[in-house]
Amino acid sequence: MCDTCGCNITEGNKHLISPGGKLEKTDSGREAINVLHGLLDENDHTARHNREHFNAHGVIAINLMSSPGAGKTALLEASIKALGDEFRIAVIEGDLETENDAERIRSHGVTAVQITTGSACHLDAHMVHDALHELDLSTFDIVFIENVGNLVCPASFDLGQHTNVVLLSVPEGDDKPAKYPVMFRTADLVMLSKADLLPILDDFSPTRAEAYLRKLANPAPLIQTSAKSGDGMDSWLQWLRDVTSQNRLSLKSSPPVQKHHHHDHHHDRDHHHDLKHS
Ligand code: MG
Repeated sequence: MCDTCGCNITEGNKHLISPGGKLEKTDSGREAINVLHGLLDENDHTARHNREHFNAHGVIAINLMSSPGAGKTALLEASIKALGDEFRIAVIEGDLETENDAERIRSHGVTAVQITTGSACHLDAHMVHDALHELDLSTFDIVFIENVGNLVCPASFDLGQHTNVVLLSVPEGDDKPAKYPVMFRTADLVMLSKADLLPILDDFSPTRAEAYLRKLANPAPLIQTSAKSGDGMDSWLQWLRDVTSQNRLSLKSSPPVQKHHHHDHHHDRDHHHDLKHS
């Protein structure tokens, strides 16, 4: 959790620490660290609940993360166009302000729910849970969650997703996996986006970017893509088909269990983040 930038308390979870909330300070005064642990527990509990919702409907949830401007929304727009009606897609958009990205998605005829986080630099499970109230999951195959553009905090919050895609755009430089190891360790797929700029920004070495990723002991595939030129889109769409069918198969072999309320979130999170190995 990001206990360094002080962004733990969000619109989604502040009810927990408000008067009457589950984590309200006691008269004796509760240590701040206990509140942080409590918030993380609550986040993971809600994330597990979200995942149960997705699983109950056979929907795969994909968390897209990157710095601002790396091309998450552009990738989604290009994917929606390329896929046609192959999958029933919904998008949950996270931004500090504006409905702009949700409107971009909707202009392609796809359902989008915008979450505006205000001051929070990441989505948390509570915000995603609220957004799920606006989606009839029985009518979708894939829910993309476009996280707030930020290479730090989003990596620390489980949202209930099945898999993490991290975009690294060519203008950002090839050393980002070395500088933001927590984010790049969580990636199940890394996409080198805006690859059409490689000939111009020739100090970006895809080989070096991959070497930094492997130094983190992350075996995730790397795909070079350009939403603009369409290069690499086939590999990305194939990855998408593969994880979607893998997820369906794993749900078939272990059907969704009824809601449970005990706290075994560590195992649960590890299990579901291991999609690429299953
Ligand atoms: Mg965006």
